[in-house]
Amino acid sequence: MRYLSTRGDTTPRQFCDILLEGLAPDGGLYLPEHYPRIDTGELARLRAVHAGEGYAALAFEILRLYIADIPEADLRAICRKTYTREVFGTREIVPLKPLEPGLFLLGLSNGPTLAFKDMAMQLLGHLFEYELGRRAAELNILGATSGDTGSAAEYAMRGKTGIRVFMLSPHGRMSPFQQAQMFSLQDANIHNIAIEGVFDDCQDIVKAVSNDLAFKAKYRIGTVNSINWARLLAQVVYYFAGYFEATSPHPNPLPEGEGEIPKVSFTVPSGNFGNVCAGHVARMMGLPIAHLVVATNENDVLDEFFRTGIYRVRAAADTLETSSPSMDISKASNFERFVFDLLGRDGAATRALFGEQLARQGFFDLSGDARFQDAAQRYGFQSGRSTHADRLATIRDVHQHCAVTMDTHTADGVKVARGHRAAGVPMIVLETALPIKFAETITEALGHPPERPAKFDGIEDLPKRVSVLPADVAQVKALIAQQTKI
Ligand SMILES: *Cc1c(COP(=O)(O)O)cnc(C)c1O
Repeated sequence: MRYLSTRGDTTPRQFCDILLEGLAPDGGLYLPEHYPRIDTGELARLRAVHAGEGYAALAFEILRLYIADIPEADLRAICRKTYTREVFGTREIVPLKPLEPGLFLLGLSNGPTLAFKDMAMQLLGHLFEYELGRRAAELNILGATSGDTGSAAEYAMRGKTGIRVFMLSPHGRMSPFQQAQMFSLQDANIHNIAIEGVFDDCQDIVKAVSNDLAFKAKYRIGTVNSINWARLLAQVVYYFAGYFEATSPHPNPLPEGEGEIPKVSFTVPSGNFGNVCAGHVARMMGLPIAHLVVATNENDVLDEFFRTGIYRVRAAADTLETSSPSMDISKASNFERFVFDLLGRDGAATRALFGEQLARQGFFDLSGDARFQDAAQRYGFQSGRSTHADRLATIRDVHQHCAVTMDTHTADGVKVARGHRAAGVPMIVLETALPIKFAETITEALGHPPERPAKFDGIEDLPKRVSVLPADVAQVKALIAQQTKI
């Protein structure tokens, strides 16, 4: 399998060539040159592997289709090391919980930081360590976070050989729980840097450091952001697992002429379009998905596109702070991958939209394009939007009627999913975080805080390891240089 860029660069690259990279050199995103097809016989085999050998074996079977440059025995070992009961809390790794007849939650948030990002980031940690070991190289991961991504990255990279993490966060602006999660890590390769400023200041510093090409090369600066293909690929696996769980114990394949392969739909709380894009990849591979429902909060860039065909990015000032903060986005950084497929994989057309029109006028309009008009039909996408009031009402309702406490992002998913149910098709909502991470809003909805998993008792009282710096690029660079000792 080789990889190409959504903006037309077709220099052949292997998986490990793009593993440690962000954007392609032409500014596009990497995608495989084709999606391997899973036919009914192969689907039945994967179902048996999942049922018999578990999630890690299923992950290996999916990953090997996309990774030709890691020996299979090594890849299998990496998957086994990553998806363990010890790290993810259950034997199933992604347990499926029924909410009401035909409506399920897929539990993706039982990893170390209690959000779905652990599913991919934990794999990335092992892949990075493996590949850096092969190259005898080192990597300094530099990132900015306001919460979920930074902590998932730190928990994935802690103690890994050849890797250091420098994570910037806005000083005093994360919740006490989030600060405790990150700052209590005592590993020597994890560096928390609290910047005296807001999240945008942190992001500006990351950009400034990355734009200093000499510094970037000398100190081997890399990132782990959501456009990384390996992260997306890791997420494809749980669409298969969720499908198998929700349609078990159906015989599969059914004997010819005796019925149809069952279908399911997924609803995905969405921000940067990474999670639901993995669902798109699974569907392109042939997983029987009826619909992929994109759920947004008040920051409804994506819902607007799927309703109207107009993709209009928001200015920072028009991006609202909501009670599902991990979906507060102004543009969806993975969306270009889907549009590339929608346009028949035309790199020049994708470049014209994302590289030119968006930069020039802040939006593009595909409403008149026949390829958009049958997109729902061909690619199964639907969408909906949820508000703060919807979240509170849904959290309350599900708590009362299903005895399940949900986090705010998952609640956006359930709200939107309920408007897109179809008879006979199970609907699976991806649970993207546990409620303890957003205790304030849960308390607002239920009158009491959510339950705290025992392993997080008292984390706010643990010693903290963090450097506070002014919003100054030179001081951040100095800290990186001092820790790297070149
Ligand atoms: C990151 C995140 C999302 C959004 O996922 P995307 O892949 O950016 O669409 C939703 N919910 C939670 C809790 C998250 O951390």
